[in-house]
Amino acid sequence: MKTLETDILIVGGGVAGSALACALRNKGYSIVMVDQRKAPLDTARGDHFQPCNVEALADWGVLDKLFEKGAGKRIGHEFRMADGEVLLQAEYTEIPIPYPYFAVFHHDLIAEFFLECAEENSDFQLFQPVTAKDFEADEDGIKSLKIEFNDEEITIKPKLVVAADGTGSIVRKTLNFATFEHPYSHPMVALFGKRPTELKPDDYFFRYSGKTGVLVIQQRMDDEIKITLPVGKEGIPWWKSASKDDKAKVLAERANIFEDIDAEIAGFYPVRMIHSIDYAFGNTVLIGDAAHSIHPARGQGLNMGIASLPRLIKSLPSPAEISEPEKVKSVLQNYQHQQKPLYDRIIARNHQAAMDMEMGAEDNAEKFIHRQNSQIRQIQEQPDLRRLHLLEATGYPFGIPSETEPDYQA
Ligand SMILES: Cc1cc2nc3c(=O)[nH]c(=O)nc-3n(C[C@H](O)[C@H](O)[C@H](O)COP(=O)(O)OP(=O)(O)OC[C@H]3O[C@@H](n4cnc5c(N)ncnc54)[C@H](O)[C@@H]3O)c2cc1C
Repeated sequence: MKTLETDILIVGGGVAGSALACALRNKGYSIVMVDQRKAPLDTARGDHFQPCNVEALADWGVLDKLFEKGAGKRIGHEFRMADGEVLLQAEYTEIPIPYPYFAVFHHDLIAEFFLECAEENSDFQLFQPVTAKDFEADEDGIKSLKIEFNDEEITIKPKLVVAADGTGSIVRKTLNFATFEHPYSHPMVALFGKRPTELKPDDYFFRYSGKTGVLVIQQRMDDEIKITLPVGKEGIPWWKSASKDDKAKVLAERANIFEDIDAEIAGFYPVRMIHSIDYAFGNTVLIGDAAHSIHPARGQGLNMGIASLPRLIKSLPSPAEISEPEKVKSVLQNYQHQQKPLYDRIIARNHQAAMDMEMGAEDNAEKFIHRQNSQIRQIQEQPDLRRLHLLEATGYPFGIPSETEPDYQA
């Protein structure tokens, strides 16, 4: 049996865990990551980095590389009625942020990209595919993790543990973190299709609404689009067996441009909010979906996982101090005290958007969607509301750092 001492153990190599390993690659820590994946991540999940995270990628020195790998840009959005009437149009250059665009990169490529960058750290070791389950834990957090890799038993002894193991986090359960949960009634369906030629500009995000509901359209890297909507009373079995024409008819009720679309199902997603009451315990901190799984109504889950990292990284003890358990404990508590209240607010707003989407999927959606659309028209017209809307959309809900106190950024 081998014993491996490390400064930081990251459990989970999805977007959040791999982004952290990438961001820390030049900081002098020894890092071990354990990830159970045998296949790439689901390509239909989050694939747009908000401008605040584009800024983080630039700070970590990997933004140019992301574009070399083929990432695209999204520079604005439009909210439209089914017939194409525009309710709200906005571009991110309207607010003074350093990178006024989203970077678009397929979800299944993101973790691989970050891991490739993380490998630049000669003190980074990835154990994959390995399921972490055999933890030794006490009142100070996680003492060790036993794994089997290539027929060898290895005991990993970390000074600090980052749980990035997603919605069902085993680390969260092992340390008995309490959670606040809300199950939503309408699962989401995601579809891929070729971008209709009349859907322009091709670097915008779109929200369409008709009498029967709402859908959102995100551009992919390859001339395709991803369409996401809540499943209504027709149910998942209907979507599974629907013909091309049946699907096109339902989609065209919300966005007329889809009359002839050949849309292929990318996946169904039951949705549940799971928000950990605490983010830190002893030497362990939760990040990404392990800390906060949210409804995809505002496309923020992946982005929140990354947006918390600059603050976490700033809080970490230096490689020289990381051997001091009391120091580790106190910096993680400090991180939690700063980050949690900000995310409580963002998640409350996300829950509101999720409930709006739920209402829009009910039988009597029309009246509700009409009310929502009049609020959207107000955003288009009123400069203060418009600015707030843009700050939230771009990931600066608490203000732009150059305009506010640096520590007040999400
Ligand atoms: C349909 C859909 C659309 C979405 N759209 C958007 C969007 O537009 N914008 C956005 O920001 N977000 C979006 N999201 C949310 C986003 O995809 C997730 O929030 C994000 O991918 C979570 O990343 P993560 O790294 O925290 O968790 P995960 O991606 O779940 O990664 C967890 C990792 O931990 C590993 N793991 C788990 N358990 C163990 C274990 N015991 N041992 C070892 N490894 C383990 C897993 O193998 C995995 O690699 C969407 C989600 C869905 C479902």
